Amino acid sequence: MYATVMHAPGDVRYENVDDPKILKPTDAIIKLSATCICGSDLWPYRGHNKFDAPLHMGHEYCGVVVEVGSEVRSVRPGQFVVGSFCLSDNTCPHCQYGFQSSCVQREIMTGAQAPYARVPLADGTLVATQEMPDDAMIGHMLAVSDVLGTGWFGAVAADVREGGTVVVVGDGAVGLMGVMAAQQMGAGRIIAMSRHDSRTALAREFGATDIVAARGEDGIGEVLELTDGVGADSVIEAVGMEQSMAQAVGVCRPGGSIGYVGVPHGVSFDGLQLFLRQQRMLGGPAPVRRFLPDLMNRVLEGRIAPGKVFDQVLPIAEVAEGYKAMDERRAIKTMLRVDG
Ligand SMILES: [Zn+2]
Repeated sequence: MYATVMHAPGDVRYENVDDPKILKPTDAIIKLSATCICGSDLWPYRGHNKFDAPLHMGHEYCGVVVEVGSEVRSVRPGQFVVGSFCLSDNTCPHCQYGFQSSCVQREIMTGAQAPYARVPLADGTLVATQEMPDDAMIGHMLAVSDVLGTGWFGAVAADVREGGTVVVVGDGAVGLMGVMAAQQMGAGRIIAMSRHDSRTALAREFGATDIVAARGEDGIGEVLELTDGVGADSVIEAVGMEQSMAQAVGVCRPGGSIGYVGVPHGVSFDGLQLFLRQQRMLGGPAPVRRFLPDLMNRVLEGRIAPGKVFDQVLPIAEVAEGYKAMDERRAIKTMLRVDG
């Protein structure tokens, strides 16, 4: 089959690779219904992450099971499934605590920007629907796999409460999903820090009540003004840079919580400052598996439409253009159609 391979920064090709096959009895093979490009795929694309061998890209996925290994019990061929970008057994102590992204058997999904993909640890990772969803649902179900699941974890980690004040730092796809999550959890006020028109519009559609375009000290000052000088109860950090983390810390009130889901690149903390600010912090790769059944239900019941975050849809053969568009910020997030 053809699949997406990154050979070097800026060099993404749709090229012939070996068909995926069952390697372990706990594997499944799925036929992708659609797939997409992640903001984190841009780190190696931009040369920020070093790699020696070509990368088989793609960790967000939904589709139909076509084959399972001999030990797979919970899913069977013909079922529509969604899985997390973190593969987990869902049975070890960490999984039972709801931290499947720290599973003792954890692997990270790869090779999903393709028509077919191998999903290791299928029983612990995949969640099947009762029925085959309509085509119109595919983008929304795909979004659950990572981008919504990650934004949702950001909101959970930031301890978003009914009526509370939430700040979302970062207007990329994950930040926008954090806005949606905060709205679903009943936040009273959602301040999105955003300065791009199309993203600001989506943030408002997803539930943002206030937009702060300023950054740095000015941005912090504006949020403090909006919160009577107190700061927010909950802050979702969805970027992972030094400045965005400083922003998150700066707008969170003492006793408030920061959920940080942007993969940190060059972020460091001053212990004394953390001590004095008295904030809770929880972050890391999202345990999307914990939220999958609930989020899939919300989508199927029509309560949320997270697939709206895909503002570009391309045939998968044009994946290289998708990377370029996201890199140049012409697209928030690109969905790849897998036809035939
Ligand atoms: Zn586990």
